[in-house]
Amino acid sequence: MSEFRNLPSVDRLLRNKDAKVLMNEYGRPLTLDAIRVTLDAIRDGSIETKEKWPDEAILLHAGSILQQWTIPTLTPVINATGVILHTNLGRSPFCQAAKEAVLSSISGYCTLEYELEEGERGSRSDHAEKILTRLTGAEAALVVNNNAAAVLLVLTGLCKRKRVIISRTQLVEIGGGFRVPDVLAQSGAKMVEIGTTNRVHPGDYEEALKEDTGALLRAHHSNYRLTGFTSEPSLEEMAVIAHSHGTILIDDLGSGALLETAQFGLAHEPMVQESISGGADLVCFSGDKLLGGPQAGIIIGKRELITKIKKHPLARAVRIDKLSLIALTATLDLYLRDRAVTEIPVWQMIAATPEVLKKKVNLWKSALGMGEVITGLSTIGGGSLPGETLPTWLLALEVSSPKNTLIKLRYLQPPVIARIEKNRILLDPRTVLPEQEEQLIPGVFGVLSEKDTGNKK
Ligand SMILES: *Cc1c(COP(=O)(O)O)cnc(C)c1O
Repeated sequence: MSEFRNLPSVDRLLRNKDAKVLMNEYGRPLTLDAIRVTLDAIRDGSIETKEKWPDEAILLHAGSILQQWTIPTLTPVINATGVILHTNLGRSPFCQAAKEAVLSSISGYCTLEYELEEGERGSRSDHAEKILTRLTGAEAALVVNNNAAAVLLVLTGLCKRKRVIISRTQLVEIGGGFRVPDVLAQSGAKMVEIGTTNRVHPGDYEEALKEDTGALLRAHHSNYRLTGFTSEPSLEEMAVIAHSHGTILIDDLGSGALLETAQFGLAHEPMVQESISGGADLVCFSGDKLLGGPQAGIIIGKRELITKIKKHPLARAVRIDKLSLIALTATLDLYLRDRAVTEIPVWQMIAATPEVLKKKVNLWKSALGMGEVITGLSTIGGGSLPGETLPTWLLALEVSSPKNTLIKLRYLQPPVIARIEKNRILLDPRTVLPEQEEQLIPGVFGVLSEKDTGNKK
């Protein structure tokens, strides 16, 4: 213990010019904490014991702690995985219009709940409602924090203590803790399961509707595909059954495409407009899946039902925030102007042709001076269109240690997220944003030309 008697006091350390530099950057309270943590670590031996700890060495260590404490962990990355709606990478990237709209109102006041014409209080939900009703043919709309909240709000607001009928084919878990039975339980509705895991028939619904019922619920299978000996009634059939028994049909669409996915060689993803025209009374879907906007939950449908939901206390708790609402309306506006495919990144990526992608990979290959251009598959992700793929071109890189290289790519600024297949690093151009390409190639080049020094920290 005696060697620690010579450790300097915190006060002395704070007077050191190196401490002044740290305080300038990190502020006094945090610097003080880091110095204390360093001194404690020296005393209890949890960092290397030196014969002598000069003040500068202590402050150097405090500096590295401060760096660890303040390094931002939520930062942009380059997505070279080919998974378009990559849930772990923030699902859909913003379109230019959304970026500009957010930027222009981010630092000042805005008309969030203000009616300019009358100079009176307005409603935040009006901004997106006008566009959504025009786009989808629905009578009314409400936007909340995310689709999980949308479904929970609809069920709580309309079906509490009432029976809600759902097919066992649709009792799915989406990921991230969203399980249809759990959401139903949380809402206070009484779940009535019908059919079997692979088949449900109109008669099953009819049978269950003999008792008084709050709603029929249809949930999109999302990341799960029902194949083989299966059957489910169509949305139209379900709507007719629900209405003939005086109840409503709620459709949790999940992704909720506003455009036809089949035009890009994919399977047909159920469209929001189809749910409305097919007779669903309420339709819920996400803002950041195939819509290609910010995180949001969108509820559209019958005015009377939406009005009731809007008044529920939970609606206030799950309301959408200002920035997301601004980004959402800017994104929806592109659909209105028929510019979604050309200006919304998610659709641009889906629509990118193999020819264009091949050209990009060839450019990457010649810039890097290595790699092989091969065919491959991109996926949609985000629980939309499971098993569906888009043909793509990839740059395959042969490296001595693919795992180490993958790690080094993640330590780039911005980090590059890639994947390994058959011991090769694969880069898919489909999900790399155009403005990131000029960062990607020098970064990858740097990693590849490094002498393999083993596992970088
Ligand atoms: C994704 C999804 C949800 C949850 O939506 P979030 O916007 O992620 O909250 C709910 N239901 C279905 C069917 C989904 O696919």
